[in-house]
This record gives sequence, C-alpha cells and structure tokens, in this order.
Amino acid sequence: MEKKVTKIGVLTSGGDSPGMNACIRAVVRTGLYHGLEMFGILRGFAGMVEDDIIPMESQSVANIIQRGGTILKTARCKEFYEPEGRKKAYQNLKKRGIDGLVIIGGDGSFRGAQIFSNEFDIPCIGLPGTIDKDIAGTDFTIGFDTAVNTAVEAIDKIRDTAEAHDRLFVIEVMGRDAGYIALHSGISTGAENILIPERKTVIEDIILQLAEKERRKKLVNIIVVAEGDEFGGADEVAKVITQRMPQQEVRVCILGHIQRGGSPSCMDRVIASRMGFHAVESLIEGRHNVFVGIVNNRMNYLPLDEAVKKRQRISEEWMNIVKILSS
Ligand code: ADP
Repeated sequence: MEKKVTKIGVLTSGGDSPGMNACIRAVVRTGLYHGLEMFGILRGFAGMVEDDIIPMESQSVANIIQRGGTILKTARCKEFYEPEGRKKAYQNLKKRGIDGLVIIGGDGSFRGAQIFSNEFDIPCIGLPGTIDKDIAGTDFTIGFDTAVNTAVEAIDKIRDTAEAHDRLFVIEVMGRDAGYIALHSGISTGAENILIPERKTVIEDIILQLAEKERRKKLVNIIVVAEGDEFGGADEVAKVITQRMPQQEVRVCILGHIQRGGSPSCMDRVIASRMGFHAVESLIEGRHNVFVGIVNNRMNYLPLDEAVKKRQRISEEWMNIVKILSS
C-alpha cells in the first residue's frame, strides 16, 4: 500500500512571478488544515541541496497574498543538475521526514522535479509559476495575468506620447522563448505589429506596411517585440527601420523587470490559490509526480514526464487577428 504523505516541502524555483506568494500560502494552509507538517524550502532547489529549510505555520504566510516576488526566494541551482547534488537534496529532506514536494516554477524546474522524482521516493507536484505562459496543460500560469497587465499599462502610456509626437515606438516585452506576453499586450493595446520568437520576422513586410501607413498619414505606430524574437529584440528592429526610413522618428522602450514585480492581479491570486490547494489534495490522494494546471476552468493533471515534453503552441488565428485589427 502507498505510504500516506505526512510532511510537505514547498519551494519556488527559476524565474519569479507575481502570485507565487499566494500559491505558497494556499499550499501551507491546505496542508495544515489536513494536519500535515509543512516546510518552506528557501531559494528553490538550492535550499534543498544546502539544507535551508524552515517550518511553516499559518502565521508564516499571513499578509502575503497581495505581495509580488516570493517570500521563499528563488534561485537557479547548478548543483541540482548533478546526481550528487540531487542526492544531497534527498538526504536533507529525508532527515526531516519530508515525504512530498510542491514545486512552483517554470518548465526548467519541472524537468528538475521529474528527474528527482524518478530517482528518489519523494513524490513531486509541479505548479506553473511563470510570467511567460509557455507551459502546456494549462490555460493560465501564475503571474502571466499580472505581467501582461503591467505591460498593457506601460504601452498605453507610451501610446499617449507617441500620438503627441507622431512617433513610431518599438517596445520590448519579456519572453525569451515565448511570445504570449507580446501577443496579449500587443493585441490589447492595438499594436500595429507584434514580433514573437515562434514566428519568423520578415522585416521587409514591416517596412512595406509602415510605408503604406505613411501614405495614409498614419504616423503613429507601436511595434511590440518579445525579447526572444529571432530578429534580435527592439534595438535591432529599430535600427533597421531607421536605416530604411530615415524620415520616421523611431523610439525604443524596453519594459524589462517591471513586468515581473508588483502586486498580483485578482486572477493570479485566484488561480494560485486553486492550484496550491489542489497540489496538496493531490499528494494526499496519492496522485503523484503530476503537473497541476487549469484547462477550461477545471483542474487538469498531467504526468510530469509529459508536461516537460509538451509546449504551448500559438495558433494562426492569433496572428490573423493581429494582422486584420491593426490595418
Ligand atoms: P524555470 O523553472 O523558470 O524554467 P530554470 O530553467 O532555470 O527556470 O530551472 C530552474 C532550476 O531547475 C535550475 O536552476 C535547476 O536547479 C533545475 N533544473 C532545470 N533543468 C534541470 C535538469 N535537466 N536537471 C536537473 N535540474 C534541472
């Protein structure tokens, strides 16, 4: 018979995202409700390897639901890539009797969790904490909604000044491998063009479109570029446009880390709470080594092995909407 879980460790790993605190709170309070002992592991897998693990009470997670960042801190941990590092991590959990883990992070963190759960007898649950929304098996990731709304607010402000001066702005948003922030923030601010890593950027097409808009006296243009766009980001795009259209006033704005911070939106707090709750319920019910997401407003469980292999795809429908609405 499967052993019942008694002590759960929770950690945040990889890039931080707003809503991670709300998720930690949900995990800790759900575990305590069921009479389990709860532990916080500091700085992601690094805290597991270096034995930086603290007991968590209800009070430990008081007044954090509205705070950005993560009270447990997050890090990238080189040692965890090595079997020796993972063994050390296992021993540190074992000596405290921790027999379940909840990992809030991105796909890299799930890969680490998947390897760890294959090697050792500690079940792991992965929860999607990333602003990039690039994880398959869920419609939402914790932090995406907040990040994208931060970007929208900034782009709206930039459009005001662009209108005043008849300028073209190239705005870079986060997304090294995924264009979701660019796509959502671009569509919702009426961007004239959106460049994302998942699609090849044909600069000739952009120049042609701009020239055609110039003929129609439409001089204000917003181009939203994901940082991982294959053309090389906002600076490169602006450079080429300036070379080809020297009469056009071009400005670059890189939004950067403001997209990671700030108080999580209502949406992020709610999904973080639901996911955190169901992660603990899953461990209790013996649903082990799964990734917990939300699809069509229902909880969705994918084996960790599958979750790390799949990626979200951007459908043609999205690109079509961008093209038609920005004409
Ligand atoms: P994210 O979770 O945001 O995608 P990373 O890709 O940096 O961030 O992964 C976070 C951490 O997960 C890494 O620093 C490492 O400790 C662990 N990890 C990632 N991939 C692996 C792997 N293949 N094997 C073991 N650990 C890994």
